[in-house]
Amino acid sequence: MHHRFDVLVVGAGGAGLMAALYAAKGGASVACITKLYPTRSHTGAAQGGIGAALGNVQEDHWEWHMFDTIKGGDYLTDQDAAEVFAKDIIDAVYELEHMGLPFSRTPEGKIAQRKFGGHTRDFGKAAVERSCYAQDRTGHMILQTLYQQNVKEGTNFYNEFHVTDLIIEEGRCRGLVAHHYATGEIHTFHAKAVVLAAGGYGRIFKITSNALTLTGDLMSIYYRKGLPLEDMEFYQFHPTGLAKLGILVTEGIRGEGGILRNADGERFMERYAPTIKDLAPRDIVSRSIITEIREGRGVGADKDAVHIDLTHLPREVIEGKLAEITDLARTYLGQDPVKDLVAIQPTAHYAMGGIPTDINGLCLTDGAGGSVEGLYAAGEQACVSLHGANRLGTNSLGDLIVFGRRAGTAAAQYARQVEYADMPADPERESVATLEALRSASGKENAAVIRRELQESMMNNVGIFRNGPDMARQVEIIRDLQDRYRHVSVSDPSRRYNSELIEAMELGFMLDCAEAMTASALNRTESRGAHDREDYHERDDANWLKHTMAYKNLNKPGDVLIGYKDVALRGYTHAFEPKARVY
Ligand SMILES: Cc1cc2nc3c(=O)[nH]c(=O)nc-3n(C[C@H](O)[C@H](O)[C@H](O)COP(=O)(O)OP(=O)(O)OC[C@H]3O[C@@H](n4cnc5c(N)ncnc54)[C@H](O)[C@@H]3O)c2cc1C
Repeated sequence: MHHRFDVLVVGAGGAGLMAALYAAKGGASVACITKLYPTRSHTGAAQGGIGAALGNVQEDHWEWHMFDTIKGGDYLTDQDAAEVFAKDIIDAVYELEHMGLPFSRTPEGKIAQRKFGGHTRDFGKAAVERSCYAQDRTGHMILQTLYQQNVKEGTNFYNEFHVTDLIIEEGRCRGLVAHHYATGEIHTFHAKAVVLAAGGYGRIFKITSNALTLTGDLMSIYYRKGLPLEDMEFYQFHPTGLAKLGILVTEGIRGEGGILRNADGERFMERYAPTIKDLAPRDIVSRSIITEIREGRGVGADKDAVHIDLTHLPREVIEGKLAEITDLARTYLGQDPVKDLVAIQPTAHYAMGGIPTDINGLCLTDGAGGSVEGLYAAGEQACVSLHGANRLGTNSLGDLIVFGRRAGTAAAQYARQVEYADMPADPERESVATLEALRSASGKENAAVIRRELQESMMNNVGIFRNGPDMARQVEIIRDLQDRYRHVSVSDPSRRYNSELIEAMELGFMLDCAEAMTASALNRTESRGAHDREDYHERDDANWLKHTMAYKNLNKPGDVLIGYKDVALRGYTHAFEPKARVY
């Protein structure tokens, strides 16, 4: 089956829906292609909120938000992206409100705002209330609102279509190929412009807050064409996920007075952060928990978790303000926070790196300004480098809205200026061959086993603590898993809804993302933001104030070529210059 649209958008999370909406408003015929039903995208899981300097509750300015974003990113943030973001998000939040998003309100009826880690007033002087929210369902409301708006604008949805390939020839993107779950058929989509918004890839780790579908598909497809992935070494772990499951336990649980305890019942954060204790930043708490576990003070059968203790809090607080997480702990762990200690573990949460783009979402091919004509990206899978080496809470939802809008607008503008470029004679050839090879293979390897080995080894060797020898070993482990992956067979030969086949394909994408991450992390011999090396403990601005660009070596399987890209430093004021890390 063949289709033709001016603009295609891959993914229907916040970034994809915003891009589709703005491409449609720009006069383009638009199709949104998504492997999930739009409102099931991971954006719907976001609870905390969306940060914008509205100043509704306290004085606030976009410059302060820009500063916090750059500092939070440990100065690897591109400052032009941070400026655009901090300015645009203010009006974008009002736009969401006018579309009908039911934000929580202040008593006088303005959009309510609350505090969130790392967001400050007056360049770091004190915490500021900046996060706009709709109860603890902000992401859910964003998806519902944007989906409705897209229906109104006439966006065409292709739900449960899994994109398997991009068609890029002579430096221009001409369309894509997708596998339809319900029929097993391959469809080709011809377009003038394509926007990629396929989300993150937390599933490469054993413990993650990410949905099962976040497997880095489009990053891998881009990378397989010899195009770069930027800053893949920077991956954020959230300190509190439910043990074994990784389901996110909100930061609010510590804000309300929850205490972390080790197997001896000791409040161990007193040793790591004597003043702020359990309320220390995400990366410090994650590292402290892992240290306790490594030194044998973990809890649970595998001694790989610690406890969060709420039992001293009134039942009304636990069941009221922390209702959702109380429910999850009771349901999934059989632990009741009112009387039991709840087992938690750091959980892989957010990818700072991804497909490199400029501030209009245009996909870049190198660090010198080269780009793929007609191809745009936004959201967690893109790296406009707003978040640098570490992301602040509430800045991802803002990123989706601001840069999704810019990518959709730019794609529609480009589509107005150009004619369709020819598709190659047989665009679906490679996708058909890959799927048929998996379906008919008789190899002995099982995708689930390889996936488990990948997830466990990534967690151990490229997780919260990193060092050269472990990562060098991981490079070999991934090569070995990739060799074994070539012998994977699928036991279910059916065409319709063949989830075994889909998962086997996704594993191939995950292996690529893991390869790029490990090579980038091994190469960066410093600690910065979320990238913490035991063997290079300091941040090294003299040598490493630059972005990594990782390319798959198409001539040598398992090999990665590393290039670099300058950080956009604007130096507006002294406040934006790199400063030492202070804990
Ligand atoms: C539990 C949790 C809580 C969070 N809370 C917050 C918060 O409070 N504030 C904040 O700012 N950030 C938060 N984040 C981060 C933020 O929610 C995500 O980074 C963001 O939602 C990602 O949006 P996205 O549009 O890029 O992708 P997603 O919402 O993940 O959507 C990805 C889309 O791509 C599609 N797709 C993927 N692969 C393919 C393919 N091969 N073919 C076709 N379609 C494909 C999927 O169908 C889906 O529609 C949270 C994240 C998690 C996991």
